[in-house]
Amino acid sequence: MNILLKYITAILPTEEGYTFEKKDIYIKDDIIAKILPCNSECDIKPDRIINGTDKLCCSSLVNSHTHSYMSMFRNSADDLMFHTWLFDRIMPMEDRLTQDDLYYGTQLACLEMIRTGTSAFLDMNICREAVTRAISESGMKAVITRGLVGNGKTDKGGIERIEDTLYDMEKYGGNKRLKFMMGPHAIYTTDREYLELVMEYAAKYNMGINIHLSESVKEIEDCYKEHGVSPVEYLDNMGMFDFHTVAAHCVQLSDNDIDILARKGVYAATNPISNAKLGNGFARIPSMLEKGVKVCIGTDSAASNNTLNMFSDMNFIALCHKGNTRSADCVSAQQIIKMATKTGAEALGLCDTGELKEGKKADIMILDLNHPSMQPLNNPVASLCYSASGYEVESLIIDGEFVMENYEIKALDAERIYFECNKAMKRIDS
Ligand SMILES: [Zn+2]
Repeated sequence: MNILLKYITAILPTEEGYTFEKKDIYIKDDIIAKILPCNSECDIKPDRIINGTDKLCCSSLVNSHTHSYMSMFRNSADDLMFHTWLFDRIMPMEDRLTQDDLYYGTQLACLEMIRTGTSAFLDMNICREAVTRAISESGMKAVITRGLVGNGKTDKGGIERIEDTLYDMEKYGGNKRLKFMMGPHAIYTTDREYLELVMEYAAKYNMGINIHLSESVKEIEDCYKEHGVSPVEYLDNMGMFDFHTVAAHCVQLSDNDIDILARKGVYAATNPISNAKLGNGFARIPSMLEKGVKVCIGTDSAASNNTLNMFSDMNFIALCHKGNTRSADCVSAQQIIKMATKTGAEALGLCDTGELKEGKKADIMILDLNHPSMQPLNNPVASLCYSASGYEVESLIIDGEFVMENYEIKALDAERIYFECNKAMKRIDS
């Protein structure tokens, strides 16, 4: 289908960052075919014309780190330090999840992300099939990773988890909105031999790697005790960064760690709200940007954020670093939009999206300007970072298709999802 977004205010990439202008945008099938001055002649005949007079559009958002199924645990594990949160609270609840729970928890995550303008995300899950099936039905783009925990090359459970990845990849590989990476959980839940096994599979199947890295002070201290180096140095020494790697968190980095990530082109998926909430601190984002690290933004899960609304993290990342460094210009709204769109898309290996540009995939969020938070429209780039809540997003287009239109989400049954999630938590947390 061809769609014309007529007379719409568009956030467009430039050499230096982003600008905004009223445009006519022609979508032909799944591609942004033309971005023209308003009322220009065009040989593309639209099947639908959307009046964009009171609307703002931008490339849709990319959530570079989450665990979608954990939306089930929203507001059920709060005010706990990281290791207590993970080992004493989250993991026991995870043991009680059924396939249906995983499915509906994931659909709740997709519902929230679509509602707040996210079209693609990098997910780490704990099962075969249920999560992938839930995502595949949502219409979203995702890179799916099975969280891999194991010790040694012959660990039965560790090998089974790798096979879960391959199973989902085989079964759902036909869905062109889904991709797969290897997802070794972290250096403290795997040993060196197991990580080497994971890398052998990544090489064999030409896959990227998604791992948690340098999240807590304890992780750093334990790594120095056990291996005599930092977690970043440990993974670099074993050759992991020769793969396309997305490293979530990267909170506790030395100068040398930052140099390694920049030199190796590692994508650092920062999760500012989750890191603050779990008492893990603030990543050195201004230094990382200055050194050329490719920084993208993730929400982490709803068990530690407690939303998957990228607007909250875009706002918080700006404020926490300005406050923390006592420097109001250490990170700009322009940089944050790039992290949440283009760099995020590249981290997911989706180089055909992430910008409102002719020839790119039509992955577009449309915001209704009839909200006090969007008025007056002095600077839409600043609006997205500093005044929008995310609930101004009224429509979301993925690959040229409306996944949400006028606040109505097409493929997901919100009422059923809420019912199933509430029912499940009564059992899980009883
Ligand atoms: Zn995580």
